[in-house]
Formats: sequence, structure tokens, C-alpha cells
Amino acid sequence: MENYMKAMVLDGPGGRLVERRIPRPRPGPGEILVRVHACGVCRTDLHILDGDLVPPSWPVIPGHEVVGHVATLGDGVEGFSLGTRVGVAWLGGACGECEYCLRGEENLCPKAEFTGFSRPGGYAQYLAARADFVYRLPPGEDLSMAPLLCAGLIGYRTWRLAGRAERVGLYGFGAAAHILAQILRVQGKRVYAFTRPGDERTQAFARRLGAAWAGGSDEMPPEPLDAALIFAPVGALVPAALAAVRPGGSVVCGGIHMSDIPRFPYSLLWGERRLCSVANLTRADGVDFFRVTRESRLDIATHPYPLGAANEALDDLRAGRFEGAAVLTPETDDV
Ligand SMILES: [Zn+2]
Ligand SMILES: [Zn+2]
Repeated sequence: MENYMKAMVLDGPGGRLVERRIPRPRPGPGEILVRVHACGVCRTDLHILDGDLVPPSWPVIPGHEVVGHVATLGDGVEGFSLGTRVGVAWLGGACGECEYCLRGEENLCPKAEFTGFSRPGGYAQYLAARADFVYRLPPGEDLSMAPLLCAGLIGYRTWRLAGRAERVGLYGFGAAAHILAQILRVQGKRVYAFTRPGDERTQAFARRLGAAWAGGSDEMPPEPLDAALIFAPVGALVPAALAAVRPGGSVVCGGIHMSDIPRFPYSLLWGERRLCSVANLTRADGVDFFRVTRESRLDIATHPYPLGAANEALDDLRAGRFEGAAVLTPETDDV
């Protein structure tokens, strides 16, 4: 039906997404209406579903790895034309005036808006997005481009915060790590992949993507790491990763939510080891990252689901039923 769309809506925490037919959003001033071709399914969406992350208001349309094209331009939008292929990521807006924004840390802006959280996201056939926070995408397949917009970008920012490192451990080998591992390999780094203990299938997947070593997160790598990047939402991995990095090395937590970190002796941090987290991303990260991806010839493992099967995709992500990333394809759904 003209002017209506299908969306997967979450009415509150602990629920399931409900399929609804709702009016298409109208782009406000400075916004564009995006027709969604593909939207990646991220672990953050599970955290919203589970109530680990509480949005400012309900209901929520999740989804922040959006690839689509410009369907309508709001007032005052310049530099885009109808049909332009664009990407919409987690950072959907920032104030541009606060001390963080002025320092180039818009990812930390207290008034930042987030796609699929405080703004409607891409688990829908259309979404309205701020034109100044939308990416023009390089050529490529929609399906494999979608996971780059969060898993790829956050993985890349996590890596950059680690500083100089040749031997890099990746804890949790899902969507983010499988993209980053390929970028690291192109840059000549040695990748050590840590999975749930006994998950030999994922360890084999990591080796296929170029990991020098793959094992359980309860194992020590064959040599000390310069940096360990944690993508699994498991606090117990923090002391494990600290134990695996050399003096002067760093541990960076890439997730937006993590279970509590258990007590650990100071000796694990001693020796100028550094521990920090990554929050969100900046537009500059995006520009940089898409330049790097063009040089890296990434092989993205994707699993398509119709929009109406979003609950199934989230269940499969939770249960670890696939390697790589799940992607919704709203274009194939009827309204
Ligand atoms: Zn700000
Ligand atoms: Zn995400």
C-alpha cells in the first residue's frame, strides 16, 4: 500500500518483535527517507530486546546497519539525489556544539542520537535519517555491505584504540571479528582467535580467514599478545585477556554491554598494561573505514532473512547458529 510500510517493532524489554503495518516516516528538515535494502542484525539489538540497554522511549524499531537508497529528500538537504546509495549506522546524530563534539569526540556527545534506539532503525522498509550522518557507500553488494556499518566499523575503532600491535587477539569471533581479522591480515598482523571453549566450528572459520592460531577463551595463546580486543559480552574475558597480553599491551572492550567483570589481582594490569572501552563511533571513523575496506577485498559471511523473520534471526544470533552476520532484506517483503 502506498505510504505504508512493514516494520518489526519492539514494544518493551523482554518482548518479541511484532510485525506491524505503519505509515512511512516523512523526512523532517535536514533528513532523508531511505528505502532499506538490507539491515544487519547486531548483538546490540539483542541487548535492547533483553533490557540490558534501555532506550529513552518505547516502542523501538531496532536496526543500525542499514544499506538503502534515497527515496525522498527533506527540506534543506543538499548533496544527495534520489536513488543515491547510502548507509545508516548507529550514530544517527550529535549536537555539534558540546565540548565532546568540538573535540572530535561526537561519539561521546551527551545529546547523541542512535539509530534503532533513540531514532527509528532499519528493521523496516523505510527509515528517516539525518542527512549529515548518512554515509555514501562504495560499490558493493548490499547484503555484505550491511554488517560493515556496525560490526565492521566498531571492530575497526576497537583496533585503532589498541595502539600499535603486531600480535592481536580477538575474543569472540562473530560478525565484528570476522571482518577485522581480514583487515588485519591484509596489514600483515598476526591474528589469534578466541572462541567459546570447544567451539571448533568457529575456530576452523577463524583459521580459514587467516588466523595464525584459534582456540578456546580458557586457553593461553602460543605467544604473548600486543593487544587483545574483546567482542563477546562476557566480563570474565577481561582478566583472561589481560593475562594474555605482554607488559605495555592493551585490552580493548568493543561491546556496548558486558556482564560484570570479576575481581582480579592488580598484577594482571601491572606492567603498564592498558584497559579501555570503545563507545559508538564517529563519522570520521566511517570515512576512514570505508577507505580501508576498499583496499582489503573483504569476504563477508552473511545469512539473509526476510524482514518478517527478524525474531528468528535474533534467536539464531543468540544461539550462535551461524558464522558471520545475519542480515534482514526488507526489500523482499510485501507491505
Ligand atoms: Zn555534542
Ligand atoms: Zn551494532
